[in-house]
Amino acid sequence: MAAPHTSEAEPKFDDMAPPRRVHVLLPLPLDSAYDYAVPAELGDEEIRIGDFVAVPLGRRAVVGVVWGEGPADPGQAVADSRLRPIAYRLPTPGMAEVTRRFVEWLADYTCASPGAVLRMTMSVQAALEPPRPRLAYCLAGPAPSRMTGARQRVMDVLADGIPLPGPTIAELAAVSSGVVRGLVKQGTLQEVQLPGEMTVPEPDWQKSGEILNDDQLKAASALRSKVDMGGYSTTLLDGVTGAGKTEVYLEAVAAALAQGRQVLVLVPEIGLTAQWLERFEKRFGAAPLAWHSDLGTARRRLTWRAVAQGRARVVVGARSALFLPYTDLGLIVVDEEHDSAFKQEDGVIYHARDMAVLRASLGEIPIVLVSATPSLESQVNVETGRYGALHLPNRIGSAELPQIEAIDMRGEAPSGPQWLSPALVTAMQETLAAGEQVLLFLNRRGYAPLTLCRACGHRLQCPNCTAWLVEHRFHGRLQCHHCGFNLRQPEACPECAAEDSLVACGPGVERLGEEVDELFPDVPRMLIASDTVRGPDAAAEAIQRIAEGEVSLIIGTQIVAKGHHFPLLTLVGVIDADLGLQGGDLRAAERTYQILHQVAGRSGRVQRPGRALLQTYMPEHPVMQALISGQRDRFMAQEKEARRFQGLPPFGRLVALIVSGRDEGQVIQTARDLGRSAPRHGDVEVLGPAPAPLSLLRGRFRQRLLLKTRRGANASALARAWVAQVEHPQQVRVAIDVDPYSFL
Ligand code: ADP
Ligand code: ZN
Repeated sequence: MAAPHTSEAEPKFDDMAPPRRVHVLLPLPLDSAYDYAVPAELGDEEIRIGDFVAVPLGRRAVVGVVWGEGPADPGQAVADSRLRPIAYRLPTPGMAEVTRRFVEWLADYTCASPGAVLRMTMSVQAALEPPRPRLAYCLAGPAPSRMTGARQRVMDVLADGIPLPGPTIAELAAVSSGVVRGLVKQGTLQEVQLPGEMTVPEPDWQKSGEILNDDQLKAASALRSKVDMGGYSTTLLDGVTGAGKTEVYLEAVAAALAQGRQVLVLVPEIGLTAQWLERFEKRFGAAPLAWHSDLGTARRRLTWRAVAQGRARVVVGARSALFLPYTDLGLIVVDEEHDSAFKQEDGVIYHARDMAVLRASLGEIPIVLVSATPSLESQVNVETGRYGALHLPNRIGSAELPQIEAIDMRGEAPSGPQWLSPALVTAMQETLAAGEQVLLFLNRRGYAPLTLCRACGHRLQCPNCTAWLVEHRFHGRLQCHHCGFNLRQPEACPECAAEDSLVACGPGVERLGEEVDELFPDVPRMLIASDTVRGPDAAAEAIQRIAEGEVSLIIGTQIVAKGHHFPLLTLVGVIDADLGLQGGDLRAAERTYQILHQVAGRSGRVQRPGRALLQTYMPEHPVMQALISGQRDRFMAQEKEARRFQGLPPFGRLVALIVSGRDEGQVIQTARDLGRSAPRHGDVEVLGPAPAPLSLLRGRFRQRLLLKTRRGANASALARAWVAQVEHPQQVRVAIDVDPYSFL
């Protein structure tokens, strides 16, 4: 183990028996754990492996985890006499062994440093300290002898008996804290302690859910028995949209709760789960804990602690929920397992679905992957027997799958800057006249994806990225969707200064909204994109309003495509079905199929039959044909053969290297050096270096290389060894992306 920076001022141990030496992993991107001494006054008993401890590092104190103990590697060891002592142990349960092994495995697989992975498990440092009970006040005695307006307001604020902290009272009653103190002195208010920890309502697993149909029953009892038997297993729950998959896996959740264990449900985007939370609460009489990046710090801290103490029984969250400190995780569910939002692209680059499978196998527990359009990876794992599979081929009750048709835009395209074909407009009129809802799907935020000068042909581009600026007319700005750079919509061309020469090219949802307003001026409509509804609460409200039929026309990006249940929706119009097929991504066809199938699946989920119309210039494309004919399995079989033939995932392994930096010369040099020292033998192929499609991103130049190996090879180890050999300037970053999903 390597040596932390030592200092003369620290106590030394040379006069005593050799100190107990422990290895402490710090949540920093370091190559290994550092050694520390357990000072005698802490007592040998007190420090155990897994404990959170504060240790000195240079001139600061850092909290890390005791990872091991005993002599360090010879040669690297710091002499006993120079070891610095642990400062203290934090009063919180230690990190479970399975979590520590998960950190190590994940670091190994993703080529990240264990410390960087550890940091993800310690994302809420404040949670390591017990919260202090908070002082609060409630009404206790008689009204004060002298009543003032301020005093009266305080008493009104506390009238319904709920104790509140002093600052809250002062704010609500618009009084100074002195008024509150005065009332305490008078005996009108009484001090009480609010508990510091969050109270977590207990889900009632004995409550019964919907009466399941035969298919659901079969699947549910198969999942229940996996949970009852215990041990690791991965099961793909593969069922059409609206088949009642959620109801089925909630049975598995009930089984795990009956065993007294914890459950994690991973979802691609937490903003979309309001309906899910409501259903869960209805099913079990208590809400689960939600975990996502929008949680406030206090909430994060309390949630983290509730999980660490085993009081939180069910957590639903985005990928980072995988790193919470479960004490006894008994089941993992990954809903919409095919969704690429499970891939984390920054920092430690990992795929949360795959790492959830790893976590389940380390914890020896079952995991359920759920989708109507399972990833090719998961389908192949089913075929080879690695995963089990359960099928739900029909929608609940009498609901039918929507009828999907293509609109051939080669004959139908409207002229001018319009995007709705006559066929789609007619269908919209019919649907609206029947009192039903229409969803128009266009996966493009803003007003127009490109602004161009008619006079000189100049395209408005981001100064920091290889990307066009997207017009957001509602805010009157042009914006980069990669780095957030934005500017006021200019009046003249920044290149040739021609006035009124800038034109918007192509549609975004805002522009589609304009077209719709002209055609259907009296129809209440809603626009849903990640920049028009911000945060989970706003999204929940919007989804609720749609579900309740407050609007008849919905225009949305992919955030409306997923998982929602809109009973009145019977027509889905896809404005540009070909959009996702552009670019050379190996999963472009698969992904386009998945998203279009998902969005079409919003239609006709109750009694009324639904339909979906796909505007396309390529109606013969295998993706469109598969959607129209409903022959998913044939399409996936073709995809599979193509990938097998090319040795692409899941039949071969890929690792991408992304070299980036602010100095283009240094980046190119490093990429070339990597290219020159690439591993070369029979099983390995290296493509590149080449400029990335996003060759400039947030001001950094980017080059890519791609390592391709056969399936069984240890691609992570190959990549790590390869990168380790090549020296490069400190300002250049070489990111390793094992199993890449993005090729930008
Ligand atoms: P999926 O997740 O497969 O798309 P859901 O689980 O969301 O499907 O179910 C679709 C709808 O059918 C939901 O509103 C759900 O409450 C309802 N549902 C599911 N199972 C049943 C059942 N057995 N009886 C009645 N309604 C059900
Ligand atoms: Zn940018």
